[in-house]
Amino acid sequence: MSAASWDAARFAAGAGITAVEAIEGGYADFGFAAVRPPGHHAEAARAMGFCLLNNVAVTAAALVSRGSKVAVVDWDAHHGNGTQELFIGSPDVLYLSVHHAPFYPGTGRVEEVGGGLGTGTSVNIPLPAGSGGRTYRDAFARIVLPVIDQYGPDWLLVSAGYDGHAEDPLGGMKLLAGDYESMAASLGMAMDRTNTVFILEGGYNLHAIA
Ligand code: ZN
Repeated sequence: MSAASWDAARFAAGAGITAVEAIEGGYADFGFAAVRPPGHHAEAARAMGFCLLNNVAVTAAALVSRGSKVAVVDWDAHHGNGTQELFIGSPDVLYLSVHHAPFYPGTGRVEEVGGGLGTGTSVNIPLPAGSGGRTYRDAFARIVLPVIDQYGPDWLLVSAGYDGHAEDPLGGMKLLAGDYESMAASLGMAMDRTNTVFILEGGYNLHAIA
């Protein structure tokens, strides 16, 4: 952290809502919020894993407060424990994560499916170290896309972390730029290219992120 981190975190937390308003206003077809710090590990009252405020959760909560159903797809190499926990009992937010396991933060087992009214709205796909594009494409085709289709969200938010890239110094996966392209394209088709906002999460090789 530095003296300016809190300002940066507040801008990041509001960026998703700004993107939503731009789409609703007809100024953009979809959004990508290139923000730091990331957010998906942050809990309601605790910073964690480089995350101060949960940017995607703030955006999802704003949409839910206006009566929308929201699906969050998290393809960061780490499980978004904060996002899952914040909506664990909510039927209004579907959280799907594809992540490296066992790995930080240790959550995101297949058995974690949500609770109460939110039972079934947490979907976890833990993958072993070294998984690449073919495995991710299978996970999207067999689980992520059919579940989104079944759920029928009004909005899709993507926790777009790039630490699953083969050149990332922290992750342990083997994704390449074209793999992210195909995942993004499949989500775009699932939502008919509308109402989709990507929000940057991790990714620690600046060349790979570019
Ligand atoms: Zn990560």
